[in-house]
Amino acid sequence: MESKSDSLIAYNVLEKKIINSGFCTLCGACEAACPVSAIQIEGEKVRRLHDCSKDLDLCPICYSMCPHSEALLLRSLKCVSGAPIRHEELGYYRKIVLAQAADPKLREQSHGGAVVTSLLTYGIEKKVFDSAIVSQAEPENPAKPKAAVALVPDDILSAVGSKFFPSSVAKAYGGAVYGYGKTKIAFVGVPCHVLALRKMEAWQHKISGNLAITIGLFCFGTFSLSPLLEHIEKTYKIKPSDIKQMRLSKKFVIQTENDVIRIPLSEIKDHILPSCRTCTDFTAELADISVGTAYPLKDWSTVIIRTKAGEDFFYDAVENGVISTWVIEEEPNVFERVIVAAAQKRTSALKEAKKMEAIIGFLPVLMLRESDALAKIKVEEIMTRNIKTVLHNITVSQFLDLVTRYHHISYPVINESGEPIGIATLEEAAKVPKEKRNDTLVSQITRPELVVAYPGETALDVFKRMSEHETGRILVLDPTNPKKLLGMVTKTDLMHTLTDNIENI
Ligand SMILES: Cc1cc2nc3c(=O)[nH]c(=O)nc-3n(C[C@H](O)[C@H](O)[C@H](O)COP(=O)(O)OP(=O)(O)OC[C@H]3O[C@@H](n4cnc5c(N)ncnc54)[C@H](O)[C@@H]3O)c2cc1C
Ligand code: SF4
Ligand code: SF4
Ligand code: SF4
Repeated sequence: MESKSDSLIAYNVLEKKIINSGFCTLCGACEAACPVSAIQIEGEKVRRLHDCSKDLDLCPICYSMCPHSEALLLRSLKCVSGAPIRHEELGYYRKIVLAQAADPKLREQSHGGAVVTSLLTYGIEKKVFDSAIVSQAEPENPAKPKAAVALVPDDILSAVGSKFFPSSVAKAYGGAVYGYGKTKIAFVGVPCHVLALRKMEAWQHKISGNLAITIGLFCFGTFSLSPLLEHIEKTYKIKPSDIKQMRLSKKFVIQTENDVIRIPLSEIKDHILPSCRTCTDFTAELADISVGTAYPLKDWSTVIIRTKAGEDFFYDAVENGVISTWVIEEEPNVFERVIVAAAQKRTSALKEAKKMEAIIGFLPVLMLRESDALAKIKVEEIMTRNIKTVLHNITVSQFLDLVTRYHHISYPVINESGEPIGIATLEEAAKVPKEKRNDTLVSQITRPELVVAYPGETALDVFKRMSEHETGRILVLDPTNPKKLLGMVTKTDLMHTLTDNIENI
């Protein structure tokens, strides 16, 4: 059992729960935040340089900053919770658009719209920030990311493209502050990287005030470097130094000087890091600006603008001709894919989380957890009352139009009397072949099982029911007339409630 003093020194908990359990994604936030430089990321390992408990009897920092610990999670949400739109799968946001770098040469080098590279280059040139944390390719092993402090546009250009292995970007952020004395830093990373930085802000860590803007990348997961490269060498006889590029489409594409290999994702899924299996954040929900692919469109990226700072910066770049934009509502396929991917990641993470918790007794967290604060809040205080419903006899095409217009992914289905008869989701609608969508009724894709709550129940009851049924939404019915729909509570509503009540947690 953990002794009291063990748990007061965060490193002991970090080591036991995160590092030794295989949940570390090597971001380096613990190294950057440690007040006595006791931790170092070395290669693919976190190393303790000296025993800090000899000098300190209490330090909560490294475990709290780790993006895979439950600490500070809800407090970190504050950075985006002022946004006007609250979406079940995409988090808080102000706008979603399609975007691409105006420079076609740049787009050629990237696999998307090269939006990140353009924004960073623009920001450095215009002195919006004084440096940027990027992930370049290691010269002797191009698949391997090397987190770096970019000071000039050339440093940013050499980081174009995605590398699907862990990058110690939070460590590099610490290096930008301590090593280079930078005070306005742009930060690019996958969702857990962004969370680490947001935790520093929530903690008011002394280096967090140097963060100017965070750009988050959509992320399905990262691979464990050595095991995957060994697999590729053994199976396909490709040495790490021969890999010129890795790309993700329906398959994992490896390009060498003379060849292109397409590996099915099912073949390499066991090399995805354990933390990624329980990670629920696909779109970097805490970033100022989130960027992902815009499949099936080539050359474009999907951009989710979440904060006012992100919006001002992004549109400044647009107005100056660096970035071109396009309306996402004109490309319903793209929008549909983003929310389906986010929903699928969340659902599979919840399932995996349940399994892992049963085996190891705890869980590294990127999700809402039970909290006493939820027991103090009544459903009637947090439910959304004027919810959008759909009639059972509209077609799937009409339903998809509504999804595009309102950006929700699921709707209560009602009969002519206004009584709820089930739930229709984008996921189910997407399974109907395109040519049959005009002839298929919503009633044919409606899931009849209703997960419900009543106004007098607590938010904790709702949370437990959501976990039990693995759903992110619950209908609220009138207890005196259970056929009368009063409203709905979503998981985002619960998160929002908790962030509003953060002082009580
Ligand atoms: C591990 C990983 C998984 C991803 N999974 C998906 C996905 O499933 N679906 C989807 O739509 N998009 C995914 N993306 C995002 C996508 O690949 C692009 O990064 C994103 O669309 C931005 O494109 P861009 O052309 O604007 O970026 P670019 O202009 O090419 O810039 C890319 C930036 O990404 C940074 N970067 C590269 N590799 C890493 C890394 N390992 N860690 C931190 N930063 C890095 C670089 O610093 C660079 O600045 C993933 C990205 C990564 C790194
Ligand atoms: S001193 Fe450093 S290693 Fe020790 S608990 Fe604090 S942050 Fe962790
Ligand atoms: S903070 Fe980052 S590097 Fe440190 S243990 Fe957590 S995931 Fe690993
Ligand atoms: S899936 Fe989640 S935990 Fe894994 S790298 Fe992406 S953001 Fe981090």
